[in-house]
Amino acid sequence: MSAAEGLAPGLYVVATPIGNLGDLTVRAADVLARADLILAEDTRVTGKLLAHSGSKVPLRRHDDHSSDDERARVVAMLGDKAVALVSDAGTPLISDPGYRLVRDARAAGRTIHTLPGPCAAIAALTLAGLPTDRFLFIGFLPAKAKARADAIAEVAGLRATVLLYESGPRLAATLAALAQGLGDREAAVAREITKLHEECVSGSLSDLARRYANSPPKGEIVIVVGPPAEQAEASDDELDQALDEALKDRSPSRAAAEVAERLGVPRKRAYARALERSQ
Ligand code: SAM
Repeated sequence: MSAAEGLAPGLYVVATPIGNLGDLTVRAADVLARADLILAEDTRVTGKLLAHSGSKVPLRRHDDHSSDDERARVVAMLGDKAVALVSDAGTPLISDPGYRLVRDARAAGRTIHTLPGPCAAIAALTLAGLPTDRFLFIGFLPAKAKARADAIAEVAGLRATVLLYESGPRLAATLAALAQGLGDREAAVAREITKLHEECVSGSLSDLARRYANSPPKGEIVIVVGPPAEQAEASDDELDQALDEALKDRSPSRAAAEVAERLGVPRKRAYARALERSQ
């Protein structure tokens, strides 16, 4: 136990508000008030949050560029002190520092607690009205056009909603690059989430690129891109042909699973057909 008020030693990964201070969880406020030390990406930014929540806990700067020695000192401290890790806003480690510290703390067998809370990507997903069953967060795209196009090409084949962070001045160019690399999918631009000027604008990628081309928006932004349009489901003939080929050297269930994945048809349909074809 730490000397103060009984917070168990270890690392506390604490999510903080992404705009509205009312989103600081009760548990986060409690840990930020009782930890022995708070590690922050920018001590001035976190200082304001602590002033709001009434915490007097000492602050120290820490990020993924902190030296190996500094990280080792923090990991050693976790044996008998309660240390909280925060970033400027949202969930630490999500396009923010903290990964190296958590990795090293875990390797050293230290206790790690997470205090979940605001995360701009997840908040945007809940606003966008786009499919939520499969999604991929890709953080910030590279700034240079070629690297950006390559990063987009990497995710083009996925049947998933894609989430990314972007800034106002680059928004229109990124939307246009997404339209080019992914096709003109449905998308949404979620801006200033939980703040006074929160908005979420839906449209096709090309419409959104045009909308913002001459008026780069202010504030913080998440782009949400829907999955590729559903293709027409394979016909019985196409399915039979694929199954006959797969059944040559696979069991009906294996053949059905592989063909279902490849043709994007329900497994049940492929399996029923595979059983018939294998008799
Ligand atoms: N760790 C944070 C999180 O959990 O969301 C993200 C940190 S990342 C350095 C900052 C980026 O997150 C911003 O540039 C913006 O793209 C996005 N972001 C943060 N707050 C936001 C908000 N209130 N509305 C929209 N996007 C936001």
